[in-house]
Amino acid sequence: MSIIVPSVIWLKIWKRTLPQSGVFLSQPAHSIYSKTKEWPQDSTLEILQEVERHWNNVVTKPQKSTNSRKHVDELGKKYVLAMFPYPSGELHMGHVRVYTISDSLARYYRALGYQVIHPIGWDAFGLPAENAAIERNVSPSQWTDHNIEHMRQQLCQLGCHFDWDREVRTCDPQYYRWTQEIFLRLFKAGLAYRKQAFVNWDPVDQTVLADEQVDDKGRAWRSGAKVERRLLNQWYIQCTRLSALLQDGLDSPQLQDWRNIVTQQRQWIGRCDGFVAMMNVNCNSQATGGARETLDGSSVPVYTRLPELLCGISFLGVRSDHELALAEGSPLTVQYTKTLTTCDASTSSDIKCSFRVSRVTVTNPLSGATIPIIVSDELPFHPGRCEFYVGYGAGSELDAGICKAGDFQVVDVLQGHTFKYIQEQTNASVLSDLEGVNKHNRLIDHVIRSTIGDGLNPDVTENASHNFKAEQISEMSEINHPLLPRSENSHTQVELSFDPNLHNSSELTGLSCSAARVKVLQLLEQRGAGGFPASAHLKDWLISRQRSWGAPIPVVHCPSCGSVPVPSCELPVLLPCHRPDMPQPHASLRSIPAFTACNCPQCGGAAERETDTMDTFVDSSWYFLRYLDPGNAEAPFQRALVDAAMPVDVYVGGEEHAVLHLYYARFMQLFLHSQGLTSHSEPFTRLLLVGRIKAPAYVRVSDGKYLRPDDVDCSVSPPVERGTGAPVKVMVEKMSKSKHNGVAPSAVMAEFSCDATRLAVLREEAPANNRTWRQQESFFPVMRWIFVLWKTVGKFVHMRQTKEAQQSAGVEAAEEVLRGHRNRAVQEVTRHYADHQQHTAVRKLETFTRHIRSAPLTAMYGAEYERSLAALLLMLAPIMPHLVAEMWLAFSHHAHLPHYKSEDVHEQPWPEVDHDYQPCYRVYVTVNDDHVYKGDMSIASLEALQWQEDRLLQELTQEHQALQVAMAGQPVLRSTFTLSDEECSVKLVVYTLDDEQLVAKKKRDKQAKKLLKAQRLKENSAKTKPKS
Ligand SMILES: [Zn+2]
Repeated sequence: MSIIVPSVIWLKIWKRTLPQSGVFLSQPAHSIYSKTKEWPQDSTLEILQEVERHWNNVVTKPQKSTNSRKHVDELGKKYVLAMFPYPSGELHMGHVRVYTISDSLARYYRALGYQVIHPIGWDAFGLPAENAAIERNVSPSQWTDHNIEHMRQQLCQLGCHFDWDREVRTCDPQYYRWTQEIFLRLFKAGLAYRKQAFVNWDPVDQTVLADEQVDDKGRAWRSGAKVERRLLNQWYIQCTRLSALLQDGLDSPQLQDWRNIVTQQRQWIGRCDGFVAMMNVNCNSQATGGARETLDGSSVPVYTRLPELLCGISFLGVRSDHELALAEGSPLTVQYTKTLTTCDASTSSDIKCSFRVSRVTVTNPLSGATIPIIVSDELPFHPGRCEFYVGYGAGSELDAGICKAGDFQVVDVLQGHTFKYIQEQTNASVLSDLEGVNKHNRLIDHVIRSTIGDGLNPDVTENASHNFKAEQISEMSEINHPLLPRSENSHTQVELSFDPNLHNSSELTGLSCSAARVKVLQLLEQRGAGGFPASAHLKDWLISRQRSWGAPIPVVHCPSCGSVPVPSCELPVLLPCHRPDMPQPHASLRSIPAFTACNCPQCGGAAERETDTMDTFVDSSWYFLRYLDPGNAEAPFQRALVDAAMPVDVYVGGEEHAVLHLYYARFMQLFLHSQGLTSHSEPFTRLLLVGRIKAPAYVRVSDGKYLRPDDVDCSVSPPVERGTGAPVKVMVEKMSKSKHNGVAPSAVMAEFSCDATRLAVLREEAPANNRTWRQQESFFPVMRWIFVLWKTVGKFVHMRQTKEAQQSAGVEAAEEVLRGHRNRAVQEVTRHYADHQQHTAVRKLETFTRHIRSAPLTAMYGAEYERSLAALLLMLAPIMPHLVAEMWLAFSHHAHLPHYKSEDVHEQPWPEVDHDYQPCYRVYVTVNDDHVYKGDMSIASLEALQWQEDRLLQELTQEHQALQVAMAGQPVLRSTFTLSDEECSVKLVVYTLDDEQLVAKKKRDKQAKKLLKAQRLKENSAKTKPKS
């Protein structure tokens, strides 16, 4: 018998107690159970807020896992990681969603008895703080600290329990010192390099702008000046070097939960079916500009599928928007333009290719020959985003024509066979695309084998590639081996059907193509000029930012020694704002002579410090490792600590980071692994990428302007603008200030309490789905349920305080029913938590609440009722930590069973299914596409029916009238039977109609539905019409 709570009642109570403003402004009334030992009748806002004030310290203080039934060691650790926020100063609803999800998971795992790591920190570098600091004339460091303080309070108010002793902030010199150290390691491994790239340059502010700081008209957001495209020397991290390994790592069974993210990453990386040859850029003397901004000395990665033909390259082609093609204001000038007409043998049509020859050239890394560069958009570039067209004068008629027109040297390295060889290779790779196996991939496998296997003990070497995937690499990582080493005797054989010998090819001369490919990759590797597999379109990671609020790149430019890394013992290279002796704040470090002037660590001469800072993606590519050893002053982290806690078990964050951040983090983990600093090559096991929160936004139809909700009259349909009556369109869009559709979490919590906000955020949608925030609609069921829970506990307390009722007949049967509900709820809710589907867990708990409330009065005195109520509260505690803590306190004071006497719900173990409980299967029957039956059946009954669909159907039809009606005595035409052990369900789909009848039936059903809907609408509008 359930107690029906009319929504009107609680709404009235609610309204009566609504405070005027501010969440914690109302005076404490000392009316809650924790203080008075009296259970208040209603859960008013004031009461809920007092409960939250009372319990907040307890709920957010560090707790240990206390599952007495299992040893922590036996269960192990759970590393629950939420993406750390940028300290903007205010939490937004997206944060609330992410941190509520991670907090509820961490609490769930803790209750299960795991040793849970649930850290938090701050992605604290970046432009907004820098700009705010300049505007307010404060230091970005002070500004950031202030924001962090405020957001920390908000996170605590939200009831999130983090390991605050692990807190890191990336702008802390004790953090960025190690970011710099990691950069030095990349530099020493040859994975950090400098080359020219375009930037947006503001000529008034003399600074570089991010793309989003340039408006549609190409003007700077602050100065309003016309932004110039300018070439600057930029630092890159050569992540393409590991791209084949990162691509390969996506096959790891460890990432099976990544689902579509694996596909996204795969596409991002691309097929690693070619190789990189780094080529040095040369400018002639006239072309050389200022000392810093020249192309001289930089190198460019050239992708080629045929590295064995390296000496046969006659020219490289680039598109007109490429850095090397820059015309205006650059050292490059047009020498001449020619139109070439040639005849393609296969299509017999004219190919025109107009091009100009750049003054810039590159050097062939093998032969040392100069390779000209031509600029043309008409070249047949490799599909995808490949930067370079590789031209072989002997390779095709087009290339030959271009060589003739441009007067380029043609080296036929295969003595008349180049054309045929390239064709065969192209065809082979097309074929292999179809077959899914190709020689390149086999070669890559060899390369990886030799890479990982080199210098290791023979057992490991033999199966190195396999071991790499299988995560058994831990023993070998003890050796601090250089990245991608190549052994002299490692055989990377490639079988080619057509395998001619090479001529005029420097060290490759006389080798067959297959042997030459192996050799050239080795040579390139030895010379630090590439030689590794890569995809055609993946680019290296540009990490330079010309800003002052980021980790300085620890390099010194010396006129005689070139780019020299700052010695590790001199780190950190401190930012001016962390040094009282320097002026601040500034947009660029370049304008601070005290910062730039230094001595060369190598020769001691006067040198200039690098003024670029690192992209914040570098900071965030390894923060999850620093959490595990945040105070370490000797190293970024201690390997043993990291090995024990990694990989991350669940990574919760915004879906927008699916590609970039996750790719960089995977790259960094793999790099640190290759340096012998960690055992694990993949950082994250499971991903829980959280969808966006959207909300209705109002757009004026006439000009597309976003209006404030207050300015819109929604009482008419369609809505109109107040005052003008202009028609307004309602659009559901991502929350944003500019669209006036954002809600501040602090305001929501003030109106509905923090736990209700947590519940509302989790309840409606699966974490991965986008959701639309409709405040009143979302909170109505939430507040009603809280009200019912409050009443339920109140009733329990009241019943136990009064005299115990006599056991009456029928109680045992009622207890048995309740026991079934409890076991089923525990089984299902646990599974939903484990699957990170808190919204279905919540729905199940709502149903379970109804089952508990429908127990007869006399059953409330029994042990089963107590067990059921305990299970409900325990499973709710991760979601509503404050409220359930209060409810549990009262419950524990009146519980009879000894193990419920503990007062702190967050110290309690997770409820378990009774050992003698036979789990039921949920049985669904669909007849002619109508859901006809849903019920439970014990395993014993299903076994008695031998799990046979016809016997099951017969049994159910005999017992249930709805099924008899649906079957209407018709024979079964066809049926399907699905058994899911994971979900403990049996699905039976039955058809008694043929396809034609089925279509006719669907049509009838659709019409009937339409009619019903229309009728309901009519009834509703009649009800809501004001009485006049
Ligand atoms: Zn020097």
